[in-house]
Amino acid sequence: DMIKFSVNIHRGCFGGCAFCTISAHQGKFIVSRSKESILKEVKALMELPDFKGYLSDLGGPSANMYRMKGRDENICKKCKRPSCIHPKVCPNLNTDHRPLLDIYHAVDTLPGIKKSFIGSGVRYDLLLHQSKDPATNKSTAEYTRELIARHVSGRLKVAPEHTSDRVLSIMRKPSFGQFQEFKKIFDRINREEGLRQQLIPYFISSHPGCKEEDMAELAVITKRLDFHLEQVQDFTPTPMTVATEAWYTGYHPYTLEPVFSAKTPREKLAQRQFFFWYKPEERKNIINELRRIGRIDLIDKLYGKR
Ligand code: SF4
Repeated sequence: DMIKFSVNIHRGCFGGCAFCTISAHQGKFIVSRSKESILKEVKALMELPDFKGYLSDLGGPSANMYRMKGRDENICKKCKRPSCIHPKVCPNLNTDHRPLLDIYHAVDTLPGIKKSFIGSGVRYDLLLHQSKDPATNKSTAEYTRELIARHVSGRLKVAPEHTSDRVLSIMRKPSFGQFQEFKKIFDRINREEGLRQQLIPYFISSHPGCKEEDMAELAVITKRLDFHLEQVQDFTPTPMTVATEAWYTGYHPYTLEPVFSAKTPREKLAQRQFFFWYKPEERKNIINELRRIGRIDLIDKLYGKR
């Protein structure tokens, strides 16, 4: 049902994350469906005998890039940036969330729709971005509140992917500080709306550039933020990505600087185990590993003074 009652409203992604193939498959420029076409599909879903009034997603590769593009498309035509939002949001990118709000409103007013949830991952860096246009900033604030108040099915998925800003920059992801800033907004809006929803962060271990120590620090930082991680993955090289090129060659293709990658099963397991510091069965191995890499200070931070 998760897929059956999901509607794709656009293709493409301008995030340019180093490990992701979406921009190679679908392109950096967003292709958005018309409102009529989206509503037609929603109405067709509503006719299905097992439809109960709930849409599980109105999204795309990222939830909130619908109809976004450069203000001056002639500049975009010549642009070589792999990402429109990393390391900073491009000043030419129009981050107006009004077209997306319009889709949510049009779907939600259809008689028979009880809730439209957003299951696709939300780019919180776009929500935090302050553009020069006050109307755009207003639309972003409105979108943030509406998303959290009306479109979350209890848990909102977001993908900080790491806590180390050095690793995040290789991933072409925003600094972890932006996740913490978004978490504050998420918690505040929940309080104001009388809701108790959870933010579910996704993380990756063994990404090129990530060392065991970075994972140990990730464990300490996410513990401090009160997360018990579940949504995690270990880096898998996929064709046509910058991350895979760095993983394979041992060098970053843009800077030609050497990049470490965990490759053996032992090295990969040593990184992955840190996600699960809270499981009793992992504790002994984690403590041994922290001793081995000379980070006894982190043992106290994870497990308290012994
Ligand atoms: S000019 Fe800016 S908005 Fe246009 S493609 Fe380049 S980075 Fe993206």
